[in-house]
Amino acid sequence: MAFSTVDDLTVSMTYEPNAYPFERESEVRSYSRSFPTTFVRAAGSTMTDSSGRTYIDFLAGCSTLNYGHNDPDMTEALMSYLSRQGLTHGLDLQTEAKAEFIQTFIDLILDPRGLPYRLQFTGPTGTNAIEAALKLARKVTGRSTVISFTNGFHGVTIGALAATGNRQHRMGPAIALPGVTRALYDGYLGASVDTAEMLDQLLSDPSSGYDAPAAILVETVQGEGGINTARASWMRDIDAIAKKHGALLIVDDIQAGCGRTGTFFSFDSMGIKPDIVTLSKSLSGFGLPMALVLIHPDHDQWLPAEHNGTFRGNNLAFVTATIALKKFWRNDDLREDVRRRGRLVTEALTNMSLHVPGSVVKGRGLFLGLDVGSGERAGAICHQAFHHGLVIETSGARGEVVKVLAPLTTPDVLLTSGLEILHRAVEEHLDLRFTTI
Ligand SMILES: *Cc1c(COP(=O)(O)O)cnc(C)c1O
Repeated sequence: MAFSTVDDLTVSMTYEPNAYPFERESEVRSYSRSFPTTFVRAAGSTMTDSSGRTYIDFLAGCSTLNYGHNDPDMTEALMSYLSRQGLTHGLDLQTEAKAEFIQTFIDLILDPRGLPYRLQFTGPTGTNAIEAALKLARKVTGRSTVISFTNGFHGVTIGALAATGNRQHRMGPAIALPGVTRALYDGYLGASVDTAEMLDQLLSDPSSGYDAPAAILVETVQGEGGINTARASWMRDIDAIAKKHGALLIVDDIQAGCGRTGTFFSFDSMGIKPDIVTLSKSLSGFGLPMALVLIHPDHDQWLPAEHNGTFRGNNLAFVTATIALKKFWRNDDLREDVRRRGRLVTEALTNMSLHVPGSVVKGRGLFLGLDVGSGERAGAICHQAFHHGLVIETSGARGEVVKVLAPLTTPDVLLTSGLEILHRAVEEHLDLRFTTI
């Protein structure tokens, strides 16, 4: 049996948590510090470590595993594809796996929404897609400045990093990151200040210091920025402002897309028409690297090979992405599940928030979090939750939001178990005496 050596290797790899060889990993590692154990298996919404302990996963690869770990149908499709010697790497060559993905994406996602987008496959990470989108917008408009928003997160390569708000990611003043002007996200100054109107005024005033932008780059829900949601009306205003000032509207749907908010695109039913959309994270459905830039045909002004990348053709990702679309986006079942599970999580978080002074439940769909007011407190709650078998992380400017990103497919029973652990962690952290949930 050809795989026996792999099995042997697997058996021999029983490391003590945090022991050699992880110490040789750069100091830059982060999630592994929050969850200091060695994982060996994962299925659906659970992960199992080398001691045999199983954890519920409310991190889901930062929304890269919206359909859970190792979906059996995707696994089967992958095994079958490999066993018939399907291409794994294909640059941007035409392959059967890519054809099937493109056709399925058009049939199930684009056509039903009347969206005419062209598809650009970039290098397989979110930040690659953002780089391509920004470069194209600059080429199309002949303008250099891009507007991005407070608390926005768009990746950590230099172009995308310039558009990212978080100072730690930008390495403070150590790197010059030109070409981006910051605007205020919806609600940044409270509910009573219309930050879209402010942006329009700044762009309209020849003496504001704002140049006409190539693009406005925005998330409908800011994942890393703390689960801040933009209202549909604000998004429509931003769309109108982009068009008024001759800028392209780029919606970064890398984290919010692929069902996290309950619909495939986070802006479905908002009544906006983005010129460019970026997708990555859960696009392959299996955690395989894949990124996609959707471009309105009017703006598809690339020359052949003007923007390339060795790993634009991850055919294994095309295979699983096709299954993900066919399995989850052919009917409304997942959408309804997300709605129901979203209510379940919201209720549980609301219940927890009653006991944390000043805390706020944020988000929509299954893109939810509890802002507990301080990074220290949120971190301590997540730490305690991990102790009880739940993998969950924080986000926000100061890490003050406990972020619930359970796979969309998490069975209600498991979701409830995870929420009970979280509740207990909150309770223990605050040392409050109550037993509800
Ligand atoms: C994760 C993320 C990115 C960057 O994706 P990488 O694959 O980490 O490069 C960009 N935008 C948003 C909204 C993200 O959540």
